Order: sequence, then structure tokens, then C-alpha cells
Amino acid sequence: MPNLQGRVAIVTGSGRGIGAATAQRLAADGAAVAVIDLREADTEQTVSSIRAAGGQAVGLACDVGVAVQVEQAVQQVAETFGRIDILVNNAGIIRDNLLFKMTEADWDAVMNVHLKGSFLMSKAAQKYMVEQRYGKIVNLSSTSALGNRGQANYSAAKMGLQGFTRTLAIELGPFGICVNAVAPGFIDTDMTRATAERMGLNPVQFQEAASAQIPLRRIGKPEEVASVIAFLASDDASYVSGQVIYIAGGPR
Ligand code: NAP
Repeated sequence: MPNLQGRVAIVTGSGRGIGAATAQRLAADGAAVAVIDLREADTEQTVSSIRAAGGQAVGLACDVGVAVQVEQAVQQVAETFGRIDILVNNAGIIRDNLLFKMTEADWDAVMNVHLKGSFLMSKAAQKYMVEQRYGKIVNLSSTSALGNRGQANYSAAKMGLQGFTRTLAIELGPFGICVNAVAPGFIDTDMTRATAERMGLNPVQFQEAASAQIPLRRIGKPEEVASVIAFLASDDASYVSGQVIYIAGGPR
């Protein structure tokens, strides 16, 4: 198991889903974790589960798309734990629709959380990482980056995050900072349950149909994404930077 003893991590959107599993995994590996979500109340479950398991966590409210909130939250983490070693840009939303029905608001909302949110969080956190000459940033891309019907906005944002990842790896590498992305396929969370609802399917039918298309013949669990993020956030991945790892039960 990767050893993150003494490390400080921020995981955005970690009130539930993949973010919650990641916060719990990083804490289990020894990191002190800042659990960030839109409302502080939404962080309580993740924070208490980490503390109950003997880990260290603090919950903070922050909209990753709002610069002033991001600056304050990142500063508060540094003040609370003394440093920032790991940033996982996980917060995400979907506003799916076919192009001809997709509104400008659907487009902007998705770009704001995924792309602008990752930009603002990374910019705020890198100040501390550059000073320390140490840092790990992991961005959440998706297999949807390769194209997915009804997700022009999300697909563009998730492929944008791959370019963002490679660029930060180049710019921040000289300061000892590794930047990577994970690209999950179909993972069992509220996000994919919401997609089923939008398509008028029950979640079980939707999962069964998806499983049939996946080489491993099943959908993924949040913990199976968290374990790869934990590896990239650890020194077991000390010479890995600018990479995108697909976690999809197959090549994509
Ligand atoms: P989820 O269950 O919907 O959780 C997303 C979390 O992000 C929620 O806690 C949400 O808060 C939070 N969030 C949304 N907007 C935010 C903002 N502006 N600032 C701070 N937090 C915000 O999603 P998930 O399935 O775990 O997905 C996590 C990440 O993995 C996303 O980036 C997603 O695109 C990516 N991903 C997921 C899958 C999948 O199959 N599930 C596949 C590929 C990639 P609220 O509860 O307040 O809404």
C-alpha cells in the first residue's frame, strides 16, 4: 500500500462518489485530507468516516469555479495542516444533451466546474508545491474524452483536462511536481445513476447494458479509481508525469 504518512491532500467534490472514496483511501494511506464540496454539510459523512477509521480530515465548503472561494479554501488547508502535497481535481457535474438541445448554460456550467475549477485549484495549490519543491496533482478525465453521444460539453472538458495535465507536467516538473490524469469508464456513482434516469432507464438495466460492452463485463467501483489515484499521489509513481491512465475495465 502506498505510504502517504506526513502528506497533506486536497480532494475536490469529495462529499460522495469517487471523490469520497479517494479522500478515504488517501487518509487510509496516511495523508491528512481536506474534503472539499459545495456545502460544508456535504463533507460531514466523508470526514467522519475518515476520523472513525483513525485518519485526519477537515471539511471545507468551496465552489471550485469561484476564484475567491478557491483561494480561501487552499489557504485554509495550508494553515490547518502546514503544507499541501496532493491535489485531486475531482469535482464534476454533467449537463448532458444532444448538441441541438444543449443550452449555452449547459456548456458553461460544465466548463466552469471541470476546466476552470481544475485551473483555479491547481493555480492556488502550486504556489505551495513550488515552494516545497514537491507536489502531486491528479486530474479526473473520463473515457468520454474520446467522444460520447449527448456529452459534447463534458467530452470537450474531459479531453481539455488531458491537455491541461500534460501542460502542467511540463511547466511544474522542474519544481518536483508530478501531474497526471485518470480517465474512468463507467463507475457506479450518483453521476451514472443520474444518466440512467435521464435516459428513462432504471440504474440496474443501464448498468447491465453498459457491462455487456466492457471487456471485464462489469462496471467499476469508486474504490477502483481511488486506488489508482493513490498510486499516482504516492512516491511509488515518482517518475510518472503527464500521463493519462484509463480505468475502464478495458482499453477504453
Ligand atoms: P458525483 O457522485 O456526482 O460527485 C461529484 C461531486 O462533486 C459531488 O459531491 C458534487 O457536489 C461535487 N461538485 C460539483 N460541483 C462542484 C463545485 N463547483 N465545487 C465543488 N464541488 C462540486 O460524481 P462522480 O461520479 O463521483 O465523479 C467524480 C469525478 O469523476 C467527476 O469529475 C466525473 O466527471 C469523473 N468521472 C466519473 C465517472 C463515473 O462513471 N462516475 C466516469 C468518468 C469520470 P454536490 O453533491 O453538491 O453536487
